[in-house]
Amino acid sequence: MTPLVTQSLSELPAIDEHHVDRRRYPHGVAFMDGQYLSMSEAKISVLDWGFLHSDATYDTVHVWNGKFFRLNLHLDRFWRGVERLRMKLPYDREQVTSILNNCVALSGHKSAYVEMICTRGSSPTFSRDPREAENRFIAFAVPFGSVANKEQLKRGLHVAISETVRIPPKSVDPAIKNYHWLDLVKGLYDAYDKGGETALILDINGHIAEGPGFNVFLVKDGDLKTPAFGVLPGITRQSVLDLCAEIGLSVVTDHITRAEIKGADEAFITSTAGGIMPVTRIDDAAIGKGQVGSVTRRLTDLYWQKHEDPAWSTPVVYA
Ligand code: PLP
Repeated sequence: MTPLVTQSLSELPAIDEHHVDRRRYPHGVAFMDGQYLSMSEAKISVLDWGFLHSDATYDTVHVWNGKFFRLNLHLDRFWRGVERLRMKLPYDREQVTSILNNCVALSGHKSAYVEMICTRGSSPTFSRDPREAENRFIAFAVPFGSVANKEQLKRGLHVAISETVRIPPKSVDPAIKNYHWLDLVKGLYDAYDKGGETALILDINGHIAEGPGFNVFLVKDGDLKTPAFGVLPGITRQSVLDLCAEIGLSVVTDHITRAEIKGADEAFITSTAGGIMPVTRIDDAAIGKGQVGSVTRRLTDLYWQKHEDPAWSTPVVYA
């Protein structure tokens, strides 16, 4: 793992927390336009294409116990997205790594949710030509958050399948992590209407795709499966694939039908926001015995153990 390169924190300007409204902003530190700011001060222009057109890509890595988890994989995915959207970052990989480190260190968080964003920005002449826009890099570190709360992690999430179809990959490539969330948010409302706590939405072929901020896996007769098409290749999903290879569990990436997931022995969702999270009910069907299954538990334990493994983690430099 490459060590974090960072400026001495004492050389960085102090964050003015004076007028932070804690009711509206989580405690954290952002970086934009060359400055470190409190979360309440980190604001973008309404003319930024990132805001006007969702013309942006981003990535989210978490810090757990003072260490970034799989930072290189997140940076690789972010860089791929930026290149494929034909944007240019004003900082190189080493500088971005330092900025992310500094946001976490200045915030003081030992467990954090750390986002890096590149927006198309805006053009000094207000041109409609995206090639004339000056791309903008933003980063921030706020407290770690999870898709599932404590109770849901213990008893398993109750998920509803929405009829909403995920925007097709030929329109917006889900491998480029993006803020085109109207389908996912519609899915959430559909799920709430059906009594679910979160949603799974479909791909254009009617198979299970993913949910708002997570991938999904099923376990049947000891074998695992996760959708291959129309989904973000999540880093947590990748971690599950890597763990399965390490411990000899069989896992395939292939399409999953609704009937298949409802008839699974176990199901779980995966996200940087929460890790591996059990699902014990889908629509009106209990999954397996309706309790968190043994494969899910085993993978969850291994996943959190890996946060201490130097091959999978990078310590934050706090001083
Ligand atoms: N799918 C979507 C649409 C997401 O937005 C996310 C994360 O935000 C994921 C899957 C999970 O990806 P990761 O494990 O890299 O957090």
